Formats: sequence, C-alpha cells, structure tokens
Amino acid sequence: MTHPLPFPSMPRRPSPRSRGAGWAAVLLLGLAGLLAGCAATPPAWYDAGKRHHRPDGFVNPYGPTIDKSIGDLVAWRWRAWREDLPAAPSAVIAGYQGFEVMRPDLAALAAMPPQRTLTWIGHATAWLQLGGLNVLTDPHFSERASPFRSLGPRRRVALPVELDQMPRIDLVVLSHNHPDSLDEATVARLRGQAGGPPLFLVPLGLKAWFEARGIDTVRELDWWDETRVGELRVWFVPAQHWSARSLTDRNESLWGGWVIQDAQDYRVWFAGDSGYTRDFAEIGARFGGVDLALLPVGAYEPRWFMAQAHVNPDEAVKAHLDVRSRLSIGIHWGTFELTDEPLDQPITDLAAALARYQVAPSSFRLLRHGETLRLTQ
Ligand code: ZN
Repeated sequence: MTHPLPFPSMPRRPSPRSRGAGWAAVLLLGLAGLLAGCAATPPAWYDAGKRHHRPDGFVNPYGPTIDKSIGDLVAWRWRAWREDLPAAPSAVIAGYQGFEVMRPDLAALAAMPPQRTLTWIGHATAWLQLGGLNVLTDPHFSERASPFRSLGPRRRVALPVELDQMPRIDLVVLSHNHPDSLDEATVARLRGQAGGPPLFLVPLGLKAWFEARGIDTVRELDWWDETRVGELRVWFVPAQHWSARSLTDRNESLWGGWVIQDAQDYRVWFAGDSGYTRDFAEIGARFGGVDLALLPVGAYEPRWFMAQAHVNPDEAVKAHLDVRSRLSIGIHWGTFELTDEPLDQPITDLAAALARYQVAPSSFRLLRHGETLRLTQ
C-alpha cells in the first residue's frame, strides 16, 4: 500500500485533460451518491436530543447543510477546466519548485526529554509533540488527495519526511472523512508501523471504517466529548462541514476539530475543515482561548461554491480572533490543488486579512513544508 515517494520529476502542472479525467471520476462518485438510498434504521450513535444528529447522518446545526448539487459541481468544474484553473503559483512563489521544503531535524525531534513542537508536513498534516507523545493531524503521506491511486489532485510540493523515517506515532486525530484528510494508504502504513498502530481518535460514525480495516485502536467521539491519552486531555469540537467517501455514505460520519491539552494546560486547537461558523467563538469561550490554533487557509475559491465548507484567509483570521488564539498556523494549503486559487494565493490573502483586522503577522503565520516550531507556554 505504499507509494513511491518523494516524486522527483513532477511536471510543473498536469494537462487540463488529465485533471479533467480526475474530476470526472469525482463527479461519477457524487452522482452515484445522489442515487444511493438512505439507511433504513438509525445507527447506534443516533441521539434524537442532539441538534446535529439525524437518523440518517449528521447536519450543521447553525449553518447550512452543504448541499451543492451535481449541477453546481459540474458548473464549477466546467469553468475551471475552460479557464485552466488553478494557475501555477507565481505571485509570491515562483512555480511549484519555489516552495521551500525543509528537512525536519529528526535526531533533535526524537531526543528526550519530551518537548513541545509542531512540524508542518503539508496540507492538513501536522506533527505535534505534546505530553511526550507524537501526534499527527489528518495524516496524509500519499501522492494524491483522492480515493484513487492514479486519479485526482496530486501532491504538488514534495513531502519533507517519509512516514517510516519518523518516530513511532502514538496518536492520530482525524477531522473528517474526505480523501484529503483521511488517506487510506497512510492509515494502512500507520497500522503496520513498528511498535504497533497508533491510537486513532475519529469523529462519531467512523469507527467501523477503521475496524473493517483491522484497526481496533480507535475511539470515536461526538462534539464536546472528552477522552484521555496519557497525560493529554482531548476534546472533539464542532466545525461546519460535511463528509463523504464512498457512494452511499454522505454525512454518515461527523466532522469537526480537536482540542488537545497537555499537563501544563497548553492547549492546541486543530480546526479541521470548516466554513465560517459561530462554533469558533463557542470553542474560544468554553476553553478560555487556545495557545496554538491550526487553521485552514487554503482551498477556498470560488466562494459561491466553497464558502459553506471552507473558510478563506479572511475568515480564518476572524476564527483566530473568535477563538482567542495566541498563535495560529495556516494549514490545508500549499500542497494539493483542490480548488481554483493558485497554490500561493493564501500567502497574499492572509497578509491582507491580517492587515485588515490589525493582527500582528507574528501571531498568524505560515510555515514552510517541514518547518518545526518549538512551542512555549
Ligand atoms: Zn473536507
């Protein structure tokens, strides 16, 4: 289940036709999903007293049901194909090779005593060291953000480190069931890692997917549920999004973010994927702010299609303020071309948003792929 990584000879950009083929496959999946029927009996997790539960899945209680039609999807993809979007990065980064990939200092990161660090691997994959544990968010170490091995958006910037070069991963927190967040090949590699699989913390409705793949080190949580992992306290928190993987499972598993707190009360919020929602302010209020926020800043154009499900950098800065984050790091960008904006557009859009809200650039940063931050209280 491994892919040949890294990818030494990636073309500067795929031809429009090959990208068209990938998206055609995604369209087919969506079409089949529309035709699929609903579950006959409510699943075991169903609680009629919870606003985000439905007998056949989950909804966003404050926001829209993400209900873009196949017609909307076709209209978006047709225009992107006609206009050959996204353009290659050029505003800040000179082409895909302009992204600087840093090699993490693995010896230092494997050193004892335990330390508190963050290393950005790419897209929504962050490697955290907290409470003496190695933690991955939405681990993705494969070539494509797709359920298919040879179709779908490919990695445009190389991985800074291979999974099997890293220390053993103790804990994975997963935001939701989309191919760019839940990568089956990466999960299989983690399952087989030396020392045994990590503990997977997953949204409600997703445990069975792991068990079907022979993984029993998995706990599924509903929004605001808490669990303990070593000295860490971990909560699953709301987001405004949706889920789908197969032909028949739209919104059958929940989506959200994770708050992880160590024994010194250092709190990290991994937001997952989300449209702008009042949930951000509630997370800030319940936890009294966070020390570090990992906030999505990519995959946001065109807004008519994306706004319900993905914040743009302007909304990410609002989320940073809402949750009262001491330091925010942009994720979910610079790696896979999922949407219409060039891969480097978050850099300029985030800088403009920070200026607009008078937020110091030092408190909401973008890292280079593979860059490590030492986190201090
Ligand atoms: Zn998603």
